[in-house]
Amino acid sequence: MTIAEPLCVGALHLSPLRTGAGVLRWHPVPAPERLRVFAGSCERCADVWWEYGSRGGAYLIRRTEIHSRRRARWETPAVRRVLAAEWWDMLVRGRAA
Ligand SMILES: [Zn+2]
Repeated sequence: MTIAEPLCVGALHLSPLRTGAGVLRWHPVPAPERLRVFAGSCERCADVWWEYGSRGGAYLIRRTEIHSRRRARWETPAVRRVLAAEWWDMLVRGRAA
């Protein structure tokens, strides 16, 4: 975990990306559908954050970036829970981006 700013105490911050980290498959989502979120990284100190959640019985990770006050979103493929949970763990630990 990186050092949190005072405003973000208690929020999740991803570890810095490690050498040799994997790359998840992301596709842009111009009009995202509702996601039931189980975990998410801090939105207060960063221009990018990640959420892990489910939709329609499948699980995925959503990445949101702020560019000039506009939100751009990407999602991984929707997969079974054990796989999406593994991706989330890799992201949090800096083992994937
Ligand atoms: Zn933060």
